[in-house]
Amino acid sequence: VESRITSELIECINFSAIKHKDQRRKDPEETPYINHPIGVAFILTNEAKITDLNVIKAAVLHDTVEDTETTLDEIEQIFGQRVRDIVNEVTDDKYLPKEERKQLQIIHAPGCSREAKLVKLADKLYNLRDLERSTPMGWSDLRVQEYFEWSKKVVEGLRGTNSALEAELDKLFAKRLNVN
Ligand code: NDP
Ligand code: ZN
Repeated sequence: VESRITSELIECINFSAIKHKDQRRKDPEETPYINHPIGVAFILTNEAKITDLNVIKAAVLHDTVEDTETTLDEIEQIFGQRVRDIVNEVTDDKYLPKEERKQLQIIHAPGCSREAKLVKLADKLYNLRDLERSTPMGWSDLRVQEYFEWSKKVVEGLRGTNSALEAELDKLFAKRLNVN
């Protein structure tokens, strides 16, 4: 059993690393993009204590469909329908204008499955910590602030899912938005 889990997880990380190979994060150091999905998965195992392999795989794959040429069918073929469904739930429709996409994240959050909510909480936590660590090139303080405000609205719709992640997010919101 352990060797199956290990090899499936490594296959998943390898798949995501290949898909994201030419991408970089927005921080000034231009960190390799793959650090993000791996970090989101690690938040789920290490801080949220999640052991559901489908959730961990979905975290590793969560930005492949939104940000690369990867299709949901491809994900289903290799990783199964459950992983496909979670990735689908956390993928924005890239054909919609950005402001509409951001608004839809707020509206759709409460109706997501528990598994998708976990991935979304860990994703927001990772991105907010990244913004605390360093400001992306070309971002004003106002833009960072607005990102925190928007994230808080999404997180409101994800609550009651994992207390460890929600507590960490609340610490960041309290510090930045000076509420709670
Ligand atoms: P973007 O969507 O352009 O960028 C944030 C996204 O980039 C994250 O959700 C994350 O997504 C990814 N990302 C990559 N690298 C980093 C990093 N180092 N740190 C954090 N995230 C990273 O930002 P928004 O459009 O959301 O801009 C924030 C706010 O600013 C908006 O609410 C909007 O109102 C405002 N805005 C202001 C502009 C301005 O010029 N003043 C222009 C546009 C928006 P992933 O998890 O998918 O990698
Ligand atoms: Zn992400």
